[in-house]
Amino acid sequence: MRETTVPVVKDLVLIGGGHTHVAVLKRFGMRPVPGVRLTLITRDVHTPYSGMLPGLVAGHYDFDDIHIDLAPLSRFAGARLFHQPVVGLDLDRRIVRCDGRPPVPYDLLSINIGSTPSLREVPGAAGVVVPVKPISTFVERWQRLRARVTEATGLVRIGVVGAGAGGVELTLSMQFALHRMLAALGRPAGATECHLFGAGETILATHNRGMRRRLERVLRERGVHMHLGQTVASVSPGLITCSDGTTVALDEILWVTQAGAAPWLGEAGLEVDERGFVCVDATLRSVSHPRVFAAGDVAAVVNHPREKAGVFAVRQGAPLAENLRRVLLGRSPRPFRPQRRFLTLVSTGGRHAVGSRGPWSFGGAAVWRWKDWLDRRFMARYSQLPVMAPGSTPALEPGLASPEVLKEISTAAMRCGGCGSKVGATPLERVLDQLRPVRRDDVLIGLESPDDAAVVTVPPGKVQVRTVDAFRAIVSDPFVFGQITANHCLGDIFAMGAEAQTALAVATVPFGLDTKVEDTLVQLLTGAVGVLNDAGAALVGGHTSEGADLALGLSLTGLSDPDALLRKSGLRPGDRLVLTKGIGTGTLFAAEMRMRAKGRWIDGAIQAMRQSSRAAAAALRRHGATACTDVTGFGLLGHLVEMTKASGVDARLALSSVPVLDGALETSGAGLLSSLHPHNVRLRRAVADVERAATDPRYPLLYDPQTAGGLLAGVPADRADACVDDLHAQGYDQAVVIGSVEPRGDAAPIHVE
Ligand SMILES: Cc1cc2nc3c(=O)[nH]c(=O)nc-3n(C[C@H](O)[C@H](O)[C@H](O)COP(=O)(O)OP(=O)(O)OC[C@H]3O[C@@H](n4cnc5c(N)ncnc54)[C@H](O)[C@@H]3O)c2cc1C
Repeated sequence: MRETTVPVVKDLVLIGGGHTHVAVLKRFGMRPVPGVRLTLITRDVHTPYSGMLPGLVAGHYDFDDIHIDLAPLSRFAGARLFHQPVVGLDLDRRIVRCDGRPPVPYDLLSINIGSTPSLREVPGAAGVVVPVKPISTFVERWQRLRARVTEATGLVRIGVVGAGAGGVELTLSMQFALHRMLAALGRPAGATECHLFGAGETILATHNRGMRRRLERVLRERGVHMHLGQTVASVSPGLITCSDGTTVALDEILWVTQAGAAPWLGEAGLEVDERGFVCVDATLRSVSHPRVFAAGDVAAVVNHPREKAGVFAVRQGAPLAENLRRVLLGRSPRPFRPQRRFLTLVSTGGRHAVGSRGPWSFGGAAVWRWKDWLDRRFMARYSQLPVMAPGSTPALEPGLASPEVLKEISTAAMRCGGCGSKVGATPLERVLDQLRPVRRDDVLIGLESPDDAAVVTVPPGKVQVRTVDAFRAIVSDPFVFGQITANHCLGDIFAMGAEAQTALAVATVPFGLDTKVEDTLVQLLTGAVGVLNDAGAALVGGHTSEGADLALGLSLTGLSDPDALLRKSGLRPGDRLVLTKGIGTGTLFAAEMRMRAKGRWIDGAIQAMRQSSRAAAAALRRHGATACTDVTGFGLLGHLVEMTKASGVDARLALSSVPVLDGALETSGAGLLSSLHPHNVRLRRAVADVERAATDPRYPLLYDPQTAGGLLAGVPADRADACVDDLHAQGYDQAVVIGSVEPRGDAAPIHVE
């Protein structure tokens, strides 16, 4: 995220990263509103550009060609990215609900979550058919369909329900791709059969006659079976029944029909139309709730009804961004009149397309090239983000808040250091009220009866293990950051073979209005406490202050039997080295900061960092682990060197076995490395034959500092395979033996092969 020293005054929350919000994000990135905290809550990190989906199916494009990556775009916009589906709204309390986390408050809300084909009206459809939306799940299903056709020995019949532009284009693209695949396998095109179902008498009912005729001809020539003028009355596995009683046996049924809206919009009390879409006026503002805007498929513009098409969602980007900005600054939004006529370009599978605008229609290879050029140009807007020069410290614009609020905030920026930077007692109390830390009998005085300090006993026969760690936020979602920090800090406890007992938290929250500071703290600490609770650790106290950046530290205690402690010093020659998680978080987040990491890579890294090492430590102990450490700031090599030194042994590392997080080889190969990396590289003298090792692309990752990394342990050779199987069963998919322990020699201790 772009750093800002301006205190947070207002929250603009965007739900959904659809075709309209991507434009809003870009515009806010180019012209931010100081004092406004922008948050994007989205179910998917990659927004598919639907105009190119058929091209992906046909094999002309790959995943990245047709997806807008919301991770770099959010960073460009200075927006926090919350990767979660929204499940509800409370319009009175002005909060957005997501499962499993505190609600997200807003001052201004904008919704761009698209639509999904409605399956409810057709008996049997749900659970049987494959809806084309969400496109993210469709892409997966399409791969499965290809596999099914590959493996089938007989005919595979595919039905597409919905004969609008999307349904026709998808049918032709699928057929094209499957025929090409079958030809490559030496099998006849007749191994598949395509059926297209439409309720109207014609395909593409909303388009001109010329366009319809051209596409009907293509469908006929390609042998697509058309079932027009009858609705699909019911669906059962393998069968469609039409309203006239005709039945058609099908192996796969794809659903591309009239769109429906998420039910929680109407349930929240927003005024919606008969299909559940949010009624907005010409400014894109909800007709019932002035703090809510909506755009794209999910919006029904009352005075300018249009069909649900991406082209309208895209066109609404600029006016929506402008109106959100105006309302944030206390001005009235401006009406926007969408165009009536618009260009439609439908590809027919191969590099050929048919188009229409108003009464005209046209087709050919040149039309496909034109469409391709237009689509790629659109995507480039979001994949090639401009570099913004850092400006001087921006001032809050007067319309952003009342004079009283602006006064309050100007004092926030001037608050003292020392105790003066503490978060006020009242907001803190409210935050603590919302936390539900576990209670433990060995905590005599904790958060439920706060005092100057917590008081904790150590049960007889146990020893107490203590550790502390702290860092600045590496992800923009404070809830997720809380989870990651807690996992990272707990890693030390589990690596020692101990169970977690208590935690003290030290949090720094960016300046802002009390309500904003409070919200950040609630998100942060709820994330951390959830992880601590799962580990059995009670949060017993802490300290919070305001500062420039969000940061969290945890001081933890754990308990262990004295003779059950796992030390770094226990490695024995012959042991196998087991690593429980992939490495690469340092380079991935270094790349993310420079907007060079793909959202799905960061997502994968976040999943890994959120995975607790508790079960891993238990599995390692079950299989007789001799020594253990958690892989963090010094990188895999640094921590291995510590172990070999403490144990008086050498280690042989099979570089090709070292598990790597998705994308880490690409980012480290591009030279995108953590600022800590050069410090860690100083340890290269511990590597024998370093020049040869350095030729391997994985080599730099040995020095990559990890956040909430895995455990590295020595396990007796005869138990290593069973240990890895056990780890896999516990969900540590990347756990693997990465090397072995050897007697201490005269040369450098780490032998990389
Ligand atoms: C096969 C096919 C081809 C098409 N081709 C074209 C075409 O060529 N031209 C055209 O104009 N239109 C086309 N369309 C129509 C087009 O897909 C839609 O009109 C367009 O995607 C709508 O855009 P949107 O911005 O409203 O929503 P979307 O693009 O659908 O984006 C919605 C976003 O919201 C997120 N989201 C959804 N639910 C939640 C939730 N609960 N919480 C948080 N986030 C959520 C999603 O992850 C996604 O990022 C096609 C449709 C199909 C099915």
